Amino acid sequence: MDFMLSQEQQDFKRECKEFASKEIAPFLEEHDRNSTFFWEGWKKMAEFGLLGLPFPEEYGGSGASALDTAVAKEGFAAGGADWGICLSWGANTIIGGVPIWKLGTEEQKQKYLVPLAAGETVSCFGLTEPDAGSDAASLSTSAKKVGDKYILNGSKMFITNGPIADIAIVLAVTDKEKGPKGGISAFIVEKEFPGFRAGKELDKMGNRTSPTSELFFEDCEVPAENLLGEEGLGFVLVAKETLEWERAVMMGPAIGLMEANLERCLAYAKEREQFGQPIANFQAIQHKLADIKVAMDTSRLLMYRAAWMKDEGMPAAMEASVCKLFISEAAMEAASTAVQIFGGYGYIREYPVERSFRDSKLGEIGGGTSEIQRMIISKMLLRG
Ligand SMILES: Cc1cc2nc3c(=O)[nH]c(=O)nc-3n(C[C@H](O)[C@H](O)[C@H](O)COP(=O)(O)OP(=O)(O)OC[C@H]3O[C@@H](n4cnc5c(N)ncnc54)[C@H](O)[C@@H]3O)c2cc1C
Repeated sequence: MDFMLSQEQQDFKRECKEFASKEIAPFLEEHDRNSTFFWEGWKKMAEFGLLGLPFPEEYGGSGASALDTAVAKEGFAAGGADWGICLSWGANTIIGGVPIWKLGTEEQKQKYLVPLAAGETVSCFGLTEPDAGSDAASLSTSAKKVGDKYILNGSKMFITNGPIADIAIVLAVTDKEKGPKGGISAFIVEKEFPGFRAGKELDKMGNRTSPTSELFFEDCEVPAENLLGEEGLGFVLVAKETLEWERAVMMGPAIGLMEANLERCLAYAKEREQFGQPIANFQAIQHKLADIKVAMDTSRLLMYRAAWMKDEGMPAAMEASVCKLFISEAAMEAASTAVQIFGGYGYIREYPVERSFRDSKLGEIGGGTSEIQRMIISKMLLRG
């Protein structure tokens, strides 16, 4: 058993960290304040090769493994890229791109993945609905086949990249009688399709550099060739594949954030003086630094295991849920600890630890809440 990343992976992580610290991080505070999308940075991310990272080269990607992709995300966030821009990257490439790569036809891959990897178009993934969140299988957006089209009606809620997306992967009911196992299908919906519209941007607590909105389908006409995978297998294949990637690979930014916060806290604790000495001399502060380190290292091991299992083609539902649950809660705790080390200054907007605190909360909610991860894990344990 080898616990080390390869030299190549370590180098790539460092390159991603340097890229983010120079080209991305310095501009995010303003975008967070104004809740705007950093288009210039997004184009640079595409040029750097991040947006198509896991796709095969023939579809504009680099053929990176799930582990390489997770490590790139970790490095990118460690360089100071906030969770928001990482979330948009994940919605575009992981949950909005991986299903097309894994289940799309050759034509769909050429048409949709290539521009996605180049940063020419943006994707999003629509599963959640206003009345179907944790109980995602109870979704009610419908898709009725009429001639050579499907007609979609319904809406999706809290969709990352919704306001800026050119395409959306949308889950809809094609046969109510069959239930989620055979009655839900996935579609690639272009924003120009008649009857499709994105709602206004939602004003969020954190992840403000990533736009979120509702999506509406009113007799939306989707050509039959835009069905993704087989009819009826949307929930079983698309959602499963997508959520496992989301719960493993998309936790990279949480670990990068812990690394960035640890570096900020170490520097601050050595520099900030109270009672005539650096606060780093106080054992209460030293223990907090140690706690962040332990949370970060444990998180790394769990994410690398889950990503590695995906690369090996092993079923990883349990490990992906363990990874998502632990890392999201560890990141929230670590961000709270970082704010505490910074004291009053940690509560002020111009310090990035404050943003990391607001951003980290989403980890415990999006992609299946902590309660749902515990439910999944315990169900699998009890099933044996
Ligand atoms: C900023 C943001 C971005 C998002 N991006 C996307 C996206 O791109 N695509 C997408 O499809 N979705 C997205 N989501 C939706 C996200 O996945 C859901 O918010 C999440 O799954 C929870 O659903 P809900 O908000 O409806 O909460 P609810 O399901 O209503 O849950 C409310 C509370 O009840 C708890 N609860 C529910 N059921 C149970 C149970 N059986 N046992 C114990 N507790 C339970 C929950 O854990 C939670 O604490 C995003 C959400 C946010 C906030």
